[in-house]
Amino acid sequence: MSHYDYDLFVIGAGSGGVRGARMAAQAGARVAIAEEHRVGGTCVIRGCVPKKLFVYASHFHSDLEDMRGYGWTVDGATFDWRTLRENKDNEIDRLNGLYLKNLVGAGVELFEERATLEDAHTVRLQKSDKTVTAETILIATGGRPFVPDIPGAELGITSDDAFYLDELPKTIAIIGGGYIAVEFAGIFKGLGVEPTIHYRGPQILRGFDQDMRDGLDTALANRGIHVIPQSEPSRLTGENGRITMETRNGNTVQTDMVMFATGREAHTKGLGLESAGVTTAPSGAITVDEYSRTSADNIYAIGDVTERVPLTPVAIAEAMAFVETVYKQNPTPVDHHMIPTAVFSEPEIATVGQTEAEARTSHASIDIYKSRFRPMKNTIAKRDEQSVMKLIVDGASDRVLGVHVLGPDAAEMIQMTAIAMRLGATKADFDATMALHPSAAEELVTMREKWQPAEAEAAE
Ligand code: FAD
Repeated sequence: MSHYDYDLFVIGAGSGGVRGARMAAQAGARVAIAEEHRVGGTCVIRGCVPKKLFVYASHFHSDLEDMRGYGWTVDGATFDWRTLRENKDNEIDRLNGLYLKNLVGAGVELFEERATLEDAHTVRLQKSDKTVTAETILIATGGRPFVPDIPGAELGITSDDAFYLDELPKTIAIIGGGYIAVEFAGIFKGLGVEPTIHYRGPQILRGFDQDMRDGLDTALANRGIHVIPQSEPSRLTGENGRITMETRNGNTVQTDMVMFATGREAHTKGLGLESAGVTTAPSGAITVDEYSRTSADNIYAIGDVTERVPLTPVAIAEAMAFVETVYKQNPTPVDHHMIPTAVFSEPEIATVGQTEAEARTSHASIDIYKSRFRPMKNTIAKRDEQSVMKLIVDGASDRVLGVHVLGPDAAEMIQMTAIAMRLGATKADFDATMALHPSAAEELVTMREKWQPAEAEAAE
């Protein structure tokens, strides 16, 4: 047994920290964890989970429109924000309780306070005003919203605040073009708010496949979500509950609320990294090797604080690999390839593997298979919205390099497709797979014609 107070001290009880602490304790280590806000972290308390609940809530808006074509009428349907917020809070409390129970059940000691590093083996607990020592330290402090430094920025909210609003505004200007901006625009629209997305670049969802971006642009416009590209705020001023937003290109926008969805930064400020010999990138994120080891031999870092792929399943996978490496004598690097990901917009985008642009750079010849169609449910509902599905195939090996879906249930389809992709499925394997009819997903295994850009454009 080491002479330290603990074998492992984990800082941050979010997706990665909780999993790492629990698994290490189950492997026989003496483990403590510190959490300065609420156990569960971003995903459970103010990220994936409450967001998806709000996404479900917002979908009822279009369901109510679509059901008329199917013969249903609901008179006097109303929406009550406070009921949703309260029910969401109750669900988050339940999950928080489960996380607490699992930690304690595994024998992990919990400190509900901020922790910082004094040196490579010493942790200061701020509220208890004491220090403890540990042989190994795992930093899992996650990220937090980045807000640009402009006059009046404090008048805006971030996604952290959006989950707890007292009242919904009538209008909201969402600043940013990433998935959080797009998802919240859909949520607000569905709940009766008029959202406008202001993005400083030419088109939202940079890094996603171009066909998905174009398809979603059209769908958002049809659903009344205005996207204003090349629009970046330079100053906010407030009067009588309204906000005036001036933009760098000289426009002035009046709105009830401004939400910054302008990216996230690693939560490392004031953590004492320098005193422990842990180096960071210029962005503040902790630099790690493939085993999540930092520049200090006994300190590891996982999840959003490391700026690899900021997603919950990735933080969890990194935690499991850390435990394998350190407590099971089985050095395990994390495989960051073929990570499926989704944008829970309405309609959804989900994707795994390379975009067409990436594949064109990395492969000598690629084949594209593309399908645009109106999902069956939209026909009777008379919703003029198309799904887009796209396969990117290596011309030399026939291996499928990327699969992209825009449409209802895209995330569910791509989760399963990711298994085939990891197994190295070829286009011939997709073709040989029997279709499940009638479904939208069957389109993925029935696309036979290679996409010929010139002919296709002429036909459109
Ligand atoms: P976190 O979950 O952020 O946990 C870090 C914890 O450390 C926090 O609880 C924090 O309070 C605590 N902490 C920080 N500093 C200290 C300190 N000094 N002492 C003690 N405690 C400290 N991911 C998906 O996969 N799918 C999604 O749909 C998705 N949607 C998202 C939606 C939103 C709005 C946001 C913001 C994020 C979303 N994410 C999603 C990302 C996901 O939440 C993160 O990738 C994930 O939570 C990262 O886990 P983590 O353990 O690295 O950090």
